[in-house]
Order: sequence, then structure tokens, then C-alpha cells
Amino acid sequence: MRAIRLQIRGLVQGVGFRPSLYRLAKSLDLKGHIANTSEGVVATLEGPEERIEEFLRNLPSFIPNQAKIHALEVEDIPLQNLRDLKIIKSEGNEKPRVDPLPDLATCRDCERELFDPTNRRFLYPFIACTSCGPRFSMILRLPYERENTAMSIFSLCPECEREYHQQEDRRFHAEPIACPKCGPGLELFDNFGNKISEGQEAILTTAKLLKEGAIVALKGLTGFHLLVRADMRDALIRLREKKRRSRKPFAVMFRDEIQLMGFAEVDEEDLRILTSAEAPILIVKSKGGLPQELAEGLNYIGVFLPYTPIHRLLLREVDFPVVATSGNLAGEPLISENSEALQKLSKIADYLLLHNRPIVRALDDSVLKRRKNGYIPVRRARGYVPSPILVKRACGKGVLAVGAQERNTFAIVVNDRLVLSQHLGDLDNFESQKNFERAIEDYLKLYGVSPELVVSDLHPDYFTTKWAKTFAELNSIPHIQVQHHYAHILSTLAEHEIFPEEKVLGIAWDGTGFGTDGTLWGGEFLLLHGKTFERIYSFKRFRLLGGEKAIKDTRRVALSILFEIYNDKAFGLVLPFSMKFREEEIVLLFQMWQKGLNSPFSSSVGRLIDSVSALLGVSYENSYSGESAMKLEALLDEGELGVYPYEIEGFTINWAPIITSLLEDRSDLRVKATKFLNTLSEIAVEVAMRVGVAKVALSGGVMMNSFLVDRIEERLRKAGFEVLTHRKIPPNDGGISAGQAYFALLSEGK
Ligand code: ZN
Ligand code: ZN
Ligand code: FE
Repeated sequence: MRAIRLQIRGLVQGVGFRPSLYRLAKSLDLKGHIANTSEGVVATLEGPEERIEEFLRNLPSFIPNQAKIHALEVEDIPLQNLRDLKIIKSEGNEKPRVDPLPDLATCRDCERELFDPTNRRFLYPFIACTSCGPRFSMILRLPYERENTAMSIFSLCPECEREYHQQEDRRFHAEPIACPKCGPGLELFDNFGNKISEGQEAILTTAKLLKEGAIVALKGLTGFHLLVRADMRDALIRLREKKRRSRKPFAVMFRDEIQLMGFAEVDEEDLRILTSAEAPILIVKSKGGLPQELAEGLNYIGVFLPYTPIHRLLLREVDFPVVATSGNLAGEPLISENSEALQKLSKIADYLLLHNRPIVRALDDSVLKRRKNGYIPVRRARGYVPSPILVKRACGKGVLAVGAQERNTFAIVVNDRLVLSQHLGDLDNFESQKNFERAIEDYLKLYGVSPELVVSDLHPDYFTTKWAKTFAELNSIPHIQVQHHYAHILSTLAEHEIFPEEKVLGIAWDGTGFGTDGTLWGGEFLLLHGKTFERIYSFKRFRLLGGEKAIKDTRRVALSILFEIYNDKAFGLVLPFSMKFREEEIVLLFQMWQKGLNSPFSSSVGRLIDSVSALLGVSYENSYSGESAMKLEALLDEGELGVYPYEIEGFTINWAPIITSLLEDRSDLRVKATKFLNTLSEIAVEVAMRVGVAKVALSGGVMMNSFLVDRIEERLRKAGFEVLTHRKIPPNDGGISAGQAYFALLSEGK
């Protein structure tokens, strides 16, 4: 006889781990008990030596798909002569250390039951089990048990109770367990707050209203969506007006894979991701067929599939794809409460489909963008958060990294794990700043972390920098500031678990970030070594005429670039974009440029791309972040390999020859756009050759350009470099906090 204690740490709670262990132990007639603890799962098992061994041998194949194991320990313990095998209640003792699980899309088994007329959960919008359903969005505190979730307000009916306690049932200890008798339900309201219908009737009425072109606010399981039929031009225009969102693309939800394939180019791998438990929005090539108001000037489209039973039930009743965009007011956080929805979203939506299950944490949909080889994480939230990024070394200190101003996320370090928060959006107004503060408080409490160190950007005007400064003062802890592009590159290294003991070349191409010299950087080649970095090559700087204004009005950057090259002779150039200026405006901007009035210097590749987009007449404005670059990307021609000339003067990349050649080039627009981006990839390779460091890491917002990042990676690989790109952490500012936290590990870690 032998007795063992099995301890498993990682993402193991809420995925049916204990029932799975139970089934295996039962089949071998072992005795003992299995429990969730704040550490993970612990099992004490007893039986004949050979059957214990068989248990351990078979264990790997019994680990549920959704579980992610960080550590597994087996130790021999004295025999206790246990009589039976059971799953016991959690040992909720000290500080919670287990990682809460991300929300999981409806599984196949639940889907089958959902549409099975003989099942007691037939058409029930809150069906879930141990391998699917809400998790992180409904957890109030750890450990993950029903009474610690938003489901605690619904007491189980006898039937649910039986399933919940039956060890063989697939809903054994499924915390979101519910049924039409005892669980939450749907209600449909008009935008005056009058109740129209409920239950299945509410789904059918909503479908009918959508068909007629109504805008519906839908409370999902993780937050609100605004829905409107995607194939009706007037409805789309109306939603744009009401949401004050002029051109930013809308994501589209399709009822199933077949319908999706009619509108978007997807391969097997795309379908695997779309139907995964994470169920993100994928940005893929569009096949057309939907009004251009969906994504003006772009040839790709954000697509996803119904990932909760509510979405499935609704989409099944309509024969058109549906826009499902974040339910918020422009610039404000995602809404998750009924009262707030009735107050705010009723200004946009005609109807609201609500339910009575509270959402503890609102999570946006995650977004991935297709590239030749894999996907670029664009926005990390539902389905991925809060899965930690594992790092090789632990930091003895509690770390809070507050991230950037735009596409904000923050990060905390919990032992050897870096936990990146959900996407919180731009922190430009009071509402979103409050939301950021609340979210930090939430994470610190949930994970039981008290920061001993706070890390921020260098930018003096970022809300996050100022917040970190105050936070450090109030708590008497150190405040470290990490340069923006250094943080970008560190975020790449974080997900590859690389510490720059050997040198690493970082290519950080970005919008703008505050540099150590007080100018705005964004076209940087950084050499990382140990705990420091050096800026070695950089793009030639130019002025952003009017500062922030030049980020929106990209013609200002184009003009500034022309002034740099042609000085006052730029007035003689006849270009489509300058036609949009009045003569006196150009004169005024020239004076601004000459005197450097409110026109900071920048070496940003992102802005350079904007200027080319304007010079080529593709886009004159960024009505949303990345618009000009995305419209340029839409023109790219895979087959075109030409490049424009450029110069590297000392350690500065001079783009002037690129611009002059581009203006003289009489080729097709697509050829010019492609040659320009080819040139950028050529520059990346030439500088890497000059620097001669084997490892090259790519990051920064510009690296959301699939074509560019594919081409840079391809060329660098061919030249013999090891290339590190993003797979989990966004290359845009959503990854800054991860880089900041990694810096703390680098300088404080062991
Ligand atoms: Zn399920
Ligand atoms: Zn029930
Ligand atoms: Fe950035």
C-alpha cells in the first residue's frame, strides 16, 4: 500500500479538474479526498502501489483541456487507512494564490443540450457546466466557489442541487450552474424602461426588432454590446451617429461558421481560434458583401461567433450577420450594470435586452489580427484575462505597473506570474480614470497583493504617471519610471521569458512615446543589455505641427515632412492633400514649423506612415487610432518587392530620399504603398546587420501592421537573426504595463 499527496498549481479551478481526478481515482478503486485549495488542487490518495503508479501514469490524459498547470508535486505520506473516495469542500485558509480562470465560451455539450427539446435546459440562456461559462467576470473573491461568485444570489433548485453534488455529473461543482427554475432570466425593455417581454419571448421579439433595423443593447455575460443588423446601411449610419463613432470599424458576429465563410476569408486555423473557449474577434480579409459603413476603406473585417448561450439563441433567430460593438458611450468604459445601461445606453439603443445576473467585472471582447504566420494580439480581455504570463524569476516584492495612457492595461506581479489586466481603453476622461482606479483596487484585493513598488511611463502628462506618483507618495513606496519604447521591447521579452543577459536588439516602432531626451520617440532601435538599454539608431526627427493636432490631422505631418525636405519650395508642390488647406493656413503652418511653435520633435515611424498615407491621398485624418495606417495597409500588394532609396547618416535614418522618390514615382498607388513599407522592412534589416546582435525583438503600435511585421520577420530570419514577435501581449500600448512589470522583475527579481 502507498499513500500520496498530489499538489497541483495553476489554472485548475473551474474546469472540472476535481471530477476528472475523481473519475480516474475511482476507476482504480483508490481511496482518499480531492479538494480545491487557495494553492490549486490537492489530492490525498491511497491504494496498492501499482495502482497509485497507474494513476500517476494516466494522470496527464485526465487533465481537462482548459486547465493550465504551472506545477505538479507528488509526495509520499504515511498511510491513513482511508475508507472512501470523495471530493471535499475547499480548504479556504491563507492568502489566495490560485489563479482565477478566464471566461469560457459555451462548450459543445452545453450547446447540444441548449437545442435539445427533451433537455430541461432547452433554450435556457444561462446554461453552463464545469468546462464552460463565465468565470473571471463573475468572481467576487477566491477561492472559486459558488458563494464567492455573482451566482450566489440564486439558490439552487433540487435538480440543480443534485447535479452540483453528484460526483459523476458534468455539472459537479459547476459554479455557474443554473436552470430555468432557479437561475437568472432575460427581460426586454424599450428605451423608456418599459418592460416588453421576457424569457424565450424576449429573444424572439429582439430578433424581430433587429430585423426591422432597431439598435439593441444586449447584456451578455461579460458586458454590454450594441447590436444592429450588419447588412442594413441606414441602421449602421444611425448607430454611427448615435454612438458618435464616425469611421472606426465595427465587429460583426455571425450565427455560425457557414454564414461567416460567406463574408470573410478564414482557414482552418482561424476557425479553430474562433470556436475556441477564448472565442476572440479575429481581424481577417473581408470577402465584401456588407455595406462599406461597417469598415470604410478597409479590406479586412473583425469577425466572431456567438460565445454565450444568449448570443447563440438570438443569432439563431436571424438570417443576417449582426454588428456587436462594445456597449459604452464614446470614450467611456464598457457598461455592465442594468441601471447604468438604462440611463446611458438608452440614448443610443431603441431596446435593451437585460438579465438579472450581476457582472462583477466588465470585459471587452479580445481582438486578434491575422498575419501570415499566426496572430497579432490587438486587445487582450475576455477569454485571455487573467491567464498569467509566466516568467522565469520571482520578484520578492509586490509590483504594480500602471501602463500607458492609451489602450491602457495595468499589470501586477504575483510570485512568478505576471498578471496583465483586461483592456481598459484610453484614460482621457474622468469615467475611464475612475474605472482604472477601481480595477486596480479590484486586482490587488483579489490577488492579495500589496504593492511595494509602482512602475509607470516617463511621460509627465500621462494620467497613469501622475497617478503612480501620488500612489507612491501615499503608500511611501518607490516609484520607478520606464521609458515607453524600452517597455514595449521588454513586453516582447516578457512573453518569451528572455532576460537580456546577452544583448538584444529591440525595434520599437510606434505612434509617439516620451523619450529620455524630452522629445517624442517612435522610430527606435534599442540595444538592451542587462538592466539597461541604449538608443542606438533612430529615425530622423521631424516636427508635429500643433502637437496633438498632428496626430489626428495627418496632413500636418505630411506638410512638416515636405518643409523639412523642400523648405519654402514646398509651396510650389501640387499635391492632392495640400489642396485641402487654404493658402493662408499653409503659410501659418510654415511659420509654426520655422519657429518651432507648439511643434515638438518626433522620430515616430507611426507618424511617418501617416504622412505617407496623406501624401498618397489615401487618408488625411485619424478619426480613430491607426486609421491612416490601416487604410494604407489595405492597399498592399504581396507580390510587390520594390523599395525606395534611403540614407543612414551616422546613427540616423534619413527618410527624405524615400519621400522624394515616392513623390516622383508614377506607379500605381498600390505599388507605391507597398514599396514604402518594403523600404521600412529593408531599413530594419540593414540596421540589424550593422548592429550584429543575434536576437531581435519587435514591438510598438506599428507592429500591428501584419504585412510589415511579416516582411520584417521574414527578411531578418533569412539574414540569420532570431526574431521575437508578440503572441500573447499586444505590441501596442496595451502591452506597456507588462514591459514595466518585467522591468521590475529584471531589476528586483531573483
Ligand atoms: Zn458547457
Ligand atoms: Zn435549477
Ligand atoms: Fe507605444
